[in-house]
This record gives sequence, C-alpha cells and structure tokens, in this order.
Amino acid sequence: MIRKFPEMHCNSNCLENIACPICGNRDEFKVEVLTRASLTDDGTDAEVGDHEYSENSYIECFSGTCRHHGRVRDFTFPGLDELLSTCTCRDLSWYGKGHASACPISQI
Ligand SMILES: [Zn+2]
Ligand SMILES: [Zn+2]
Repeated sequence: MIRKFPEMHCNSNCLENIACPICGNRDEFKVEVLTRASLTDDGTDAEVGDHEYSENSYIECFSGTCRHHGRVRDFTFPGLDELLSTCTCRDLSWYGKGHASACPISQI
C-alpha cells in the first residue's frame, strides 16, 4: 500500500487504517450508515441521530474522479497507520512524494 501510494498521510481517528485501494485517498469517503428516525402518522422526522457502519457497509471513495466502491473491509488495511506513524520524513520539503532512505517505511 505504501509503496504504491508514497504520498499517503497518517490518520488517527475515524479513518484510521482506511484508504482507497485504487487511488490511495485517505481524506473523504461516502459510507452507507444505519440510522433510526422517528416514524409517526405524519411521516419520519428528518433529524439524523446516531449512525452506524461496519466492515460490511458500502463505502465509496470521494477523491477527484475516483469513485471506487466496495465494502469497508476492502478499504481497511490493518496496521497501516501504525506504520505511517513511524515516518520520519514529515519535515522534508518533498514530504508526500516518497520516503527518505533513513525512514523506517522505506525499509519495507
Ligand atoms: Zn479512490
Ligand atoms: Zn517517511
């Protein structure tokens, strides 16, 4: 994954270990969520409450023209961010284009 997309940056929250396998996007996705709305005789209320998704949810890459889609598990790369967090290139002017030979990631 990193060899293919050396410009990948680290995520540490909701997108931890998630990346598009086609273009390497790590910034924005559309995901299908389960939610609950109040249903009354008048209809449903539009207020969106808690939403849930799982590794089997539909996900779509939303970067540039890439609209690669699949299941969340197809976009999940266990250990990716643990690895990216060891990158020592962040202060380099060309960060995002590759890894320095001294960077642990270039040893992979
Ligand atoms: Zn993509
Ligand atoms: Zn690096």
